[in-house]
Amino acid sequence: MDKNIIRVFVILGELLVILVLTFIIFFVPGSSGNASETSTSGKALAAVKLSDTDSGTPAVSIAAVVPDKEATERARLERERIAEEARLAEEARLEEERIRLEEEARAEAAKKTAGAEETAALQANMYDYDAAIETLKAVPQYETRDDLKATVASYESTRDKLVKWEDNTQISHLFVHSLIVDTSRAFRKGSSQPVGYNRYMTTVGEFKAMLESLYERGYVLVSMHDIAERYIDEDGTEKLRKKAIYLPEGKTPFVLSQDDVNYYAYMENDGFADKLVIGEDGRPTCQYTDVDGNVTFGEYDVLPIVDNFLLEHPDFSYRGAKGILAVTGYEGALGYDTGWHMYDLDDPAQKAKLEAEQEAAKKVADAIKADGWEFASHSYTHTDMKTNSFNKVVYDTDKWEREVQPILGETDLYIYPFGSDICDWRGYKGDKYEYLKKAGFWYFCNVDASRYWIQITDNYMRMGRINADGERMVKTPQKLDYFFDSAAILDKSRPALG
Ligand SMILES: [Zn+2]
Repeated sequence: MDKNIIRVFVILGELLVILVLTFIIFFVPGSSGNASETSTSGKALAAVKLSDTDSGTPAVSIAAVVPDKEATERARLERERIAEEARLAEEARLEEERIRLEEEARAEAAKKTAGAEETAALQANMYDYDAAIETLKAVPQYETRDDLKATVASYESTRDKLVKWEDNTQISHLFVHSLIVDTSRAFRKGSSQPVGYNRYMTTVGEFKAMLESLYERGYVLVSMHDIAERYIDEDGTEKLRKKAIYLPEGKTPFVLSQDDVNYYAYMENDGFADKLVIGEDGRPTCQYTDVDGNVTFGEYDVLPIVDNFLLEHPDFSYRGAKGILAVTGYEGALGYDTGWHMYDLDDPAQKAKLEAEQEAAKKVADAIKADGWEFASHSYTHTDMKTNSFNKVVYDTDKWEREVQPILGETDLYIYPFGSDICDWRGYKGDKYEYLKKAGFWYFCNVDASRYWIQITDNYMRMGRINADGERMVKTPQKLDYFFDSAAILDKSRPALG
């Protein structure tokens, strides 16, 4: 072939390569005319170079480049779609969460309002109408709740009809000892004191019948702190004064107390509760061991019986008042061996045992107070404070303060052992009184079978009590006629009292 013709073909071939290159740079999508985008155009250039050296047709290279670009774009779009889907899912999740939280808040508010209504109803049932009104007015939706406003109006009208108890020195005070659960064990010949139990104790059945009768006759539990209150006088000294009690017409306040809430060792196996404990519901109750050794919990003494009675009859309590539990220290407290002398304190194991008993007793005592009960000192040694010397009173009071007060907490209530007061009716004076007062006691109880006997001075309150026990019910039942019919409630299993 003519060399010139060959040269022409070579030139034409080179021109073709230039044309293809131009086409790729400007018209193939993804390679773009923007020369600075080396990352996207690099592959195309490489393809052209390949075709250049291979001297093959460039179409093969172009076909390999285009699907690669499309796949990249598809992948990008797919990534975008996945990201968008994830964003939408997250948005939906957040919205769901917001709705859930809103619903929870609404339910919580409704529960609170219902709780407030329940609390207010209980407060009103216990004659504390001001507290009930305050509770309802504190409900956030109060302003828009006509039903709550109507309830407040009814509380106000009932409150305005209450009557102030005329004379705070005319209020009765009944007391019992530990209740007999199993009369067959308590009164049996082999029990540690069948005669003593028959005289000074009350049975569970009798006590329940007493509560029913007191309730039917319109009696309402009050605290000694409702009868008289401590206050700071203008001269800066702390004093005592009568406090107004407001009850509906026909209701009569009275105080209830229980002596020797200790569950002494001598009572073991004689059909009494073992101790006070915290029940499964977190509220205090009694532990009892029956004749076969089975241990159960429940209404085996004053505290759980009154508590359960109040659940059904909240109007038996004035503003949550329950009773006073009087506790000695010489054999522990509340059924726990917390007396220091019961252990060899030089022995670390024994010391640890004492500490465990103290801790257990304190937990129960805290639960009892939270439940609305009050504690009183019943002295440490359970000795007669009238015949005791001043030094013996000091020794006893200090010991109670050291061993029992850390468990029960501070109290200003003092219930004399044997019902024996330190002074006669003419009023307190002298070193014994001064010492007890200095120890923090303001309210003192003796035993006096009068219907009521109260002294309230600037410095103390004294209150006589009536024993609601076997001896009183059998020998002088008329003293109890104001409260119940002794003959009707006397336990039939009691032996005759000599
Ligand atoms: Zn006693």
